[in-house]
Amino acid sequence: MRPALKKNIAILGSTGSIGTQTLDVIRQHPDLFAAEILTGHANADLLIQQALEFMPNAVVVTDATKYDEVRTALDPYDIKVYAGEDSLEQIVESDEIHMVVTAIVGFAGLRSTLNAIRHKKNIALANKETLVVAGDIIMKNAREAGVTIFPVDSEHSAIYQCLAGEFHNPIEKIILTASGGPFRGRTLESLAHITKEEALQHPNWVMGNKITIDSASMMNKGLEVIEARWLFNLKPEQIEVIIHPQSIIHSMVQFGDGSIKAQMGLPDMRVPIAYALGYPHRLQTTFPRFDFAACATFTFEAPDTKIFRNLALAFEALKQGGNMPCIINAANEVAVDAFLHDKIGFLEIADVIEICMQTSTFIKTPSLDDYFHSNSETRILCTEIIKKRQ
Ligand code: NDP
Ligand code: MG
Repeated sequence: MRPALKKNIAILGSTGSIGTQTLDVIRQHPDLFAAEILTGHANADLLIQQALEFMPNAVVVTDATKYDEVRTALDPYDIKVYAGEDSLEQIVESDEIHMVVTAIVGFAGLRSTLNAIRHKKNIALANKETLVVAGDIIMKNAREAGVTIFPVDSEHSAIYQCLAGEFHNPIEKIILTASGGPFRGRTLESLAHITKEEALQHPNWVMGNKITIDSASMMNKGLEVIEARWLFNLKPEQIEVIIHPQSIIHSMVQFGDGSIKAQMGLPDMRVPIAYALGYPHRLQTTFPRFDFAACATFTFEAPDTKIFRNLALAFEALKQGGNMPCIINAANEVAVDAFLHDKIGFLEIADVIEICMQTSTFIKTPSLDDYFHSNSETRILCTEIIKKRQ
């Protein structure tokens, strides 16, 4: 059965990996979805190209230095053009929008996500950092506004799908699968001198640079553990991580009778994006299908948290609670950026995060303002720590 109404979608971060794949889903279903709002940061060329193809109501370019370029290119058309962070935050209030896809990377997505929730927009959430930083506030606001947060992250979409029809059955635990990234099975010594080019080679997924490094360091799985805690209201001990290098099982839920449900498919982010956009309908797609005969073996192994320390640090941050996940997120954003600019080595990412966890101000019950302060404080601290090591 087809939904009656065409959904108008705002894509925050349309120029990124998730953003372009969301547009691919919309491109394949023009009868179901319209791209109403598009936003980009620095990639003005792509934002212009997308606007010319999808003819949205408005675009926002958050890097204000690109405003003139975008405005000039779109001037002949009936497309509003705005610039800056405040415009990003305000644009989600539009009455014309039915759903907001949060595909901005990092803390930069927090304000707009929260404002969209407060204005009762359903969310397709890719920007996991917002839940890591302020999961308590995001979920509370979503409950109060009666808003649904549909996970886009493949693991969380898998869990969401496994929970369909299980409303009365409590989760015993969830099992988050991880590919293990490009450095699975490597020794600590061999990771000391790896280059960013090596770290950017993910075996199964093509993604933005930050999440690709997070996947190599397993911080991505750590952030996903915290994301799952908030999305599914779990205790840390109910969340298990298992390495599954084939990335076919996207995650699993175990129930009280010992039964385990898994969601599977080829690693293709357009599948969880389409599920979030189309819910409760599964969209008919022509994306490639999985062939069991061609992949006869599924393997599983426990993660090595002595080598991939970030995963242990994220569990530790979750257990400590308060603003510790915010601290770990800010430190990670700065450390990954430093690694991508050859300022620190790969293994130093975990070192500087750990120092930030020990030295940034801990707040047990933070307010939203506290999260903003904590993010700024940790960024400054982390930048200084990195400078001293150079
Ligand atoms: P990309 O780096 O590919 O894209 C990021 C997007 O955010 C771009 O549109 C970019 O604009 C925009 N952006 C960057 N900085 C800012 C800023 N300061 N203010 C506003 N917009 C900004 O990232 P991904 O698409 O890979 O990831 C997006 C989110 O989705 C992340 O939170 C990631 O963890 C999550 N995710 C991604 C997956 C993937 O497969 N890629 C899988 C699961 C989750 P521009 O490029 O124009 O500068
Ligand atoms: Mg994921």
